[in-house]
Amino acid sequence: MAASSFAASSIPFTTTPTPRISFASSSFYPSFPRINAIPRKFLFRATTSSAPTVSATSTTSVQVNDSPASATPAKPLPFRVGHGFDLHRLEPGYPLIIGGINIPHEKGCEAHSDGDVLLHCVVDAILGALGLPDIGQIFPDSDPKWKGCASSVFIKESVRLMHEAGYDIGNLDATLILQRPKLSPHKEAIKANLSALLGVDTSVVNIKAKTHEKVDSLGENRSIAAHTVVLLMKK
Ligand SMILES: [Zn+2]
Repeated sequence: MAASSFAASSIPFTTTPTPRISFASSSFYPSFPRINAIPRKFLFRATTSSAPTVSATSTTSVQVNDSPASATPAKPLPFRVGHGFDLHRLEPGYPLIIGGINIPHEKGCEAHSDGDVLLHCVVDAILGALGLPDIGQIFPDSDPKWKGCASSVFIKESVRLMHEAGYDIGNLDATLILQRPKLSPHKEAIKANLSALLGVDTSVVNIKAKTHEKVDSLGENRSIAAHTVVLLMKK
């Protein structure tokens, strides 16, 4: 049957009614913890079957087929760009953790995990660049195993997936939006910790912060948000 190409991805990504999984073991970051977090429906390298499949085969196109043998490998993209966004409510009684750094403040992020708005959007940027589902789908907040979880776990898993797909981080640019507290005293610590988690030099990680001009929930110290853009480069 005819195939229609509708998106770009470099990840072998196929869904079938009965996917069989074969994540390659991480040879690049063997110290990263392997977590069996990804729901079966998002896992890679499902086997072929007579049922219709959606597949992205190590390359630049995703194909929808009802034929098990019609996927055609193509040359992987040399660069991939991803964007991430996240927002959390600020509530009393929670720690404010940004980029893995505990920031003194009278409020913190209410969340299922540790509510690290920066790490969450960095994960989404990397997953987005890889053409994968978002952080909420891969680490669902309905799963009790992620309750109170350090978001560094999510970062390490996204980095492992990135290396598995054959990419390195080119550079990353993040913007935090919050009215208070001032982040300037903490920016270098945040940058150093995020760089270490990503396994990259600090020169390729940029952290910016701005207020929301005292308007809306962000400007009224009721929420915090972050945007991240990341460039991945083929190894
Ligand atoms: Zn979040």
